[in-house]
Amino acid sequence: MAVPFADLQLQYQTIKDEIDRAIAAVIRDNAFIRGSYVDAFEREFAEAAEVSHCVSCANGTDALYLAMTALKVKPGDEVITTAHSWISTSAMITHAGATVVFCDTDGSTFTIDPAAIEAAVTPRTVGIIPVHLYGQPADMDAIMAIARKQKLWVIEDCAQAHLARYRGRMVGTFGDAATYSFYPGKNLGAMGDAGAVVTNDAGLAEHMTMLARHGGLVKHQHRIEGINSRLDGMQAAILSAKLPHLAAWTNARQHAATVYDAGLNQIEEVVVPELAPERRHVYHLYTIRHPRRDALAAHLNANGVQAAINYPTALPFLAAYERFGHRPEQFPNAYRDQGRILSLPMFAEITRQQQDEVIDLVRRF
Ligand SMILES: *Cc1c(COP(=O)(O)O)cnc(C)c1O
Repeated sequence: MAVPFADLQLQYQTIKDEIDRAIAAVIRDNAFIRGSYVDAFEREFAEAAEVSHCVSCANGTDALYLAMTALKVKPGDEVITTAHSWISTSAMITHAGATVVFCDTDGSTFTIDPAAIEAAVTPRTVGIIPVHLYGQPADMDAIMAIARKQKLWVIEDCAQAHLARYRGRMVGTFGDAATYSFYPGKNLGAMGDAGAVVTNDAGLAEHMTMLARHGGLVKHQHRIEGINSRLDGMQAAILSAKLPHLAAWTNARQHAATVYDAGLNQIEEVVVPELAPERRHVYHLYTIRHPRRDALAAHLNANGVQAAINYPTALPFLAAYERFGHRPEQFPNAYRDQGRILSLPMFAEITRQQQDEVIDLVRRF
């Protein structure tokens, strides 16, 4: 039996009528750019994310750029982020004009180590971008304590963590702003690119809205120089149709994670994802560690099970950051993990049979 890594077509089939109706309505209303569908999704997502403002934009990468630009980073500023993430997080620090400072992960949760942040703060540090990687919240109490003490802003990268919670509180509500991606494969995914920044700060929300819309809130009144980063009406309507299902999809992912945990726990050499206390993990990815990762990945893929490596090279060691001359011993956890991590098929609709097939193949390996 073949098991895909994710199955977007299957999700569409379960809500086909709702999606088709949403798309038809946007076409009927000519509401392609801005308009009522975008406004409605911003309201609905703000409520779901438990924040007062949602500024929609073209993708999760732009969301990071908008937040940092609105927080007025400037050349010479240093922004701290994790060594283990998708490159958007660090690349946007550079594009916003600041200098990237990487910190190692904590060795168990794949998220940034607060002790490494403390050690990395300099007089030039202006902010921290923790990433709730794979859907597990970073240690926000420790991170916010450092931010308050050092007077730093915090932008939470929630691209993989829709509806995740830390000590009962929604991720994205701890820092000054939080960014979301609605890339098709994310836990809440559009049928194209889409993203948002959320915040409880009305001034910051207005500034980010201006930046995303050519620098103005009113046509032809450009108060600043902005960019064009719009969520289009079609994607907004699709996201509004999907949002009511997100809670159930998240529960299904969590259930699938418990099935994997139980099946893989006893297998020698396999380390299942560690769940830190008081975190609600939403399992965007279910990522195990294995000392013979490449051979295991080849075995799974050869038997029709799609496994993936997220990500094969930790950020400091990418060619894009050669200029820093980073060495493995500066980021021992991220360096070790890049050779051991393997993400198994994970999606809300995955069946018990499919999971048993994956577990069986891992056991036989
Ligand atoms: C997906 C992702 C992004 C970027 O989102 P896009 O919508 O693809 O631009 C940023 N950060 C993390 C951690 C992501 O997983």
